[in-house]
Amino acid sequence: MNEIQPQLDIDTAIQAPVSMQRTNLLGLDRTALEEFFVALGDKKFRAAQLMKWIHQLGVTDFQLMNNLSKELRNKLAEISCIENLQVAKDLLSKDGTRKWLLQLADGNFIETVFIPEDDRGTLCVSSQVGCALDCSFCSTGRQGFNRNLSTAEIISQVWLASVLLEEEMKPGRKITNVVMMGMGEPLLNFDNVVRAVSIMMDDFAYGLSKRRVTVSTAGVVPAIDRLGDRLDMRLAVSLHASNDALRNKLVPLNNKYPLKELMAACVRFIDKQNTRSRITFEYVLLDGINDKPEHARELVKLLKGVPTLMNLIPFNPFEGSGYKTSSKQAVSRFSEILHNAGITTVVRKTRGEDIAAACGQLAGKIEDKSRRHRRFAVPRFGMEQ
Ligand code: SF4
Repeated sequence: MNEIQPQLDIDTAIQAPVSMQRTNLLGLDRTALEEFFVALGDKKFRAAQLMKWIHQLGVTDFQLMNNLSKELRNKLAEISCIENLQVAKDLLSKDGTRKWLLQLADGNFIETVFIPEDDRGTLCVSSQVGCALDCSFCSTGRQGFNRNLSTAEIISQVWLASVLLEEEMKPGRKITNVVMMGMGEPLLNFDNVVRAVSIMMDDFAYGLSKRRVTVSTAGVVPAIDRLGDRLDMRLAVSLHASNDALRNKLVPLNNKYPLKELMAACVRFIDKQNTRSRITFEYVLLDGINDKPEHARELVKLLKGVPTLMNLIPFNPFEGSGYKTSSKQAVSRFSEILHNAGITTVVRKTRGEDIAAACGQLAGKIEDKSRRHRRFAVPRFGMEQ
């Protein structure tokens, strides 16, 4: 593991500057920016010009934006800002995975992870500080919920990663895909996530196609329906169990929205999309808990009629989790049952183990200073393993 020039010392970062009163233009989508310029007495097309400067050229100094008049540049500097998160830690795994610990203006920390592969570069973005959903195998869940991220705080993760990767000028280091699968439940921060995704997909900003932006949910059924009404993009569902009794323990949200309702919502979502698409299901394999052949066979029945891409993810262990990674034999047996039933199944490689790349592990270590995780000194599930 390498640590790359940390720009901020965690112990002193708490005093990071804040621009509280001025509008942070990083968080405005095209419609909001057009309204902003019209309110200033200027033209709508300034929005596209400004978005190109910020998101495509990485420029945050208004005075460098030379297709805007001097007067407009001065006005923008007076009433607005382009303010990014602070990089507190910048870690590079030996497998190329890069993780940034980012500090918010209020002193909280979040994580963003870049995963380079041969044919793509995927950025995993956070949507909340902590998470309220308390999935039993998740490091972020153990921190509890703190607050939603603003649109600007979500987009800043994409902006920073783009700029930092660009600076390296290495081939193949570009962001081609964004997954909202970092800290938090994106659909419980609905409006900010939808605005941020529309900026990611805007041709004057990051220009990502709908096949390359994925929002992941633990299964907030009413919000899946709302999302399908608002955006044409990919949906991932964190499934992790094949029946309600098991899922109630692993993903407590299942008590509110059980599997039957969740599957029906997935089918409605697919029906609303313009192009033929599939739901990506994420399934973390936990040794002896959800990785047996009977679970795989139950999954086959559950997913009948739902266009599926199944991602099987070997558990990335963290201290005090109480869970173990499934054996290679258990993973291949599980995968084979799904595959033989005609379900497209991919076994994901564990990435960035040496930099604690699983969601929430690094910020969790920082949060440990607050002692908030102590209630989990005794893991809740699977300790008999
Ligand atoms: S797995 Fe996702 S939804 Fe569940 S606690 Fe972790 S961050 Fe929240």
